[in-house]
Amino acid sequence: MIPAAKPLIGRDERRAVDKVLRSGGLAQGPQVAAFEEEYSATVSGAHCIAVNSGTSALHMAFVAAGIGVGDEVIVPSFSFAATANAVALTGATPVFVDVEEDYFSIDPGAFEAAITKKTKAVMPVHLYGHPADMTAIDLIAKKHGIMIFEDAAQASLSSIHGRPVGTWGVAGSFSFYPTKNMTSGEGGMVTTMDATFARNVRLYRNQGMEIRYQNEVVGFNTRMTDIHAAIGRVQLKKLPRWTKQRQDNAAFLSSNLEGVITPPVAPGADHVFHQYTIRIVDTDRNAFADELTKRGVGNGVYYPTPIHRLPSFNLPLSLPVTEQVAAQCLSLPVHPALKKRDLETIVTVVNAVARAGI
Ligand SMILES: *Cc1c(COP(=O)(O)O)cnc(C)c1O
Repeated sequence: MIPAAKPLIGRDERRAVDKVLRSGGLAQGPQVAAFEEEYSATVSGAHCIAVNSGTSALHMAFVAAGIGVGDEVIVPSFSFAATANAVALTGATPVFVDVEEDYFSIDPGAFEAAITKKTKAVMPVHLYGHPADMTAIDLIAKKHGIMIFEDAAQASLSSIHGRPVGTWGVAGSFSFYPTKNMTSGEGGMVTTMDATFARNVRLYRNQGMEIRYQNEVVGFNTRMTDIHAAIGRVQLKKLPRWTKQRQDNAAFLSSNLEGVITPPVAPGADHVFHQYTIRIVDTDRNAFADELTKRGVGNGVYYPTPIHRLPSFNLPLSLPVTEQVAAQCLSLPVHPALKKRDLETIVTVVNAVARAGI
């Protein structure tokens, strides 16, 4: 079986963890500080604040920006639930809008149409590692005085028009969950160009304290441990090579797959291929997926149910493109552990299943 995803943990990571364990300092400390500084190089020198998950990164960014009860935040419904959970947990209302079908990211026209007097922010998601249309979103947001937050959980190292994701708005949020392009075990990073905002995120991460026991605001404990940061630092060094491997794997798949819609890359976009997501349009996607599994090709559906349809939100909205792509999308293995032989197998199997019309 070719696995759909495979976290790569090596001797360097184990050694780094062992070093922290021997140091006796386990909680947030020098490893976290070093990880933040090193990650900053991937986001044009932005301030970086490490937290315990990508969800916390989203949540802390909204809290630090003062988003709360009575505010609306526009989000795409075609994403992982954490995108909307982070909004809802502040007391604000996530307003779900449609995506465009080529790149699966928020439709700028739908974003503009959803703006009300209560709209405080928009949060595009760089889904599968493909950057959203940030130029268009930025223009609309500026015109209406709306803050931009980026859900860059899947998009470490991605950029559009030469500008890294996570640097376009008030804040960006990245995830280091094990299946993401790099991992710290669990973990996340808030990125921002604004020093005051960065300080506020640091406060909310740590009970509202900068100086111990002088709590300035009511805060959380969403700190990253030095153990996790040590893993993240090693992985970050490997990320450029792994990303190149993902992109090469994607290029091979795109030039050899037949009978399915392969993922296009927008002009100026640097797609980091967290997922390589095809669309099955002529036959039943679930049957297609089952057949791939039967023939040894791991795969995944991200995400089968749009967020607004989940029991946690359950809103009777009509988002036709979202409904359509949720029924068509299918992610194939693209991770850097794939061998040439694996890629050839994926092509042979997918093409055979497509030809069979399953
Ligand atoms: C993974 C992910 C998150 C949440 O990150 P965690 O580290 O799992 O909390 C948020 N948004 C998107 C789009 C994700 O893929």
